[in-house]
Amino acid sequence: MNPFLIFTLWLLDIKKRTSRSSFHPDIWGLLPFVMFLLIVSIPWYCQMTNPEKLSFFQTDYLSGVGLLFLYYLFGLAVMLIITIIAFPHVPDLKVSFLGYLFMISGILYAFRLANAPYFKYFNHLTPLYFLVEINLLLISIVPGFISRETNRIVCAITISIELGFVMYLLGKGSILFNFSKLHGVWIFYLCGATIIASWFFSRNSYGLGGGISGLACYYMFGYIFSNSPLENIIWLSTPLLLSLVILYNWLTRLSYRVSYDPVLNIYTRGFCNNIIHGQANIRMGNKFSIAMIDIDYFKRINDTYGHDAGDRVLHTIAQLVRSYALPRGITCRYGGEELAIFFPQTNLDKAFAISERINRAVSRTALPMTKNKREILTVSIGVASNQEGENVLHTLKKADSALYRAKEEGRNRVIKA
Ligand code: GH3
Ligand code: MG
Ligand code: MG
Repeated sequence: MNPFLIFTLWLLDIKKRTSRSSFHPDIWGLLPFVMFLLIVSIPWYCQMTNPEKLSFFQTDYLSGVGLLFLYYLFGLAVMLIITIIAFPHVPDLKVSFLGYLFMISGILYAFRLANAPYFKYFNHLTPLYFLVEINLLLISIVPGFISRETNRIVCAITISIELGFVMYLLGKGSILFNFSKLHGVWIFYLCGATIIASWFFSRNSYGLGGGISGLACYYMFGYIFSNSPLENIIWLSTPLLLSLVILYNWLTRLSYRVSYDPVLNIYTRGFCNNIIHGQANIRMGNKFSIAMIDIDYFKRINDTYGHDAGDRVLHTIAQLVRSYALPRGITCRYGGEELAIFFPQTNLDKAFAISERINRAVSRTALPMTKNKREILTVSIGVASNQEGENVLHTLKKADSALYRAKEEGRNRVIKA
């Protein structure tokens, strides 16, 4: 269901930042499991030992909302927050995905097991349960190299399928839904409009669009389930889910800020370190290459035209390098006026060819130093690619020594390690 899609987006985003091929069982990674076990087993245990106690969990509280459901919702939130805090200690978030799967199943199970008065509504939940499973299936088959753009597409497709499914059920006159409310078909249009608007206007909003779309669908389901306790649950939990979406959005914005250099508008050294340690959304693959770039005689620019002019020149060169490195290469600011390009799944020849193009492009660009003075600068580049079993840091060091050689041999050139 679509609130789950919100969480899917959320988790995918965390996964992107922590994706790593090897799995290290870690106390942090186990926490969501432990939380799940605790959360699911407490009401269950109560029922086993003393059915009286369970009534506490199924009080018709908050105008018909099963307290149990809120309890599980709270558990889910806690689990997700732990997952966030656990970053970057959880190397493989498949662990959390599993915890998440159990949690959702647990909620539905608890509905049937513990909440006897609501049992009849469990039949309504069956198609929803099916959709939850589809979402989870998508999570598990979506590979680690998923990009924000792919993420959006997966989300859009899932929402369309789910909406289509609902329309189909309604159209068939299924007894699963309440037809007395069919005249309120406007809610579908509203939901559709919200989704389309959020896809169009949230291109760089870090999942906010997906979250809002999910909530719109969720709300629509509240309408379908009107006159049932589920309706109340949906209405009441929407603000909670909305605040989770906003929190998620805020966290991703924060992570964007630490990943981008405000002056050069390329990735920071911190992001560079994340790539090196396998904690960024980048799978370097079996064969990868790295280029290290240093501007030649840059100190002179600062000394002659001042630091501000130096910054502007640096920005121009960084953007030039970035545009030539794309779509393969990821450009980071490695040091002051030193850049690193990571080329995932790229052999030495290909990386060398791109580096030569960068070298030529820079040496052909007249950079404005003052209003009416332009100068040509050059760059030296060292390129290396990994041997079998070699880690990213080692390859980077090889590229750095190649850069050193390029400097020694007279600058303005590309040297292979
Ligand atoms: P070469 O690399 O060819 O050996 O000569 P160089 O003059 O470029 O020497 P080096 O790479 O060691 O110099 C780095 C200089 O870059 C030092 C500093 O003045 C300048 N620099 C580093 N970061 C910045 C920055 O963010 N802004 C500006 N304006 N200058 C910077
Ligand atoms: Mg230099
Ligand atoms: Mg330097």
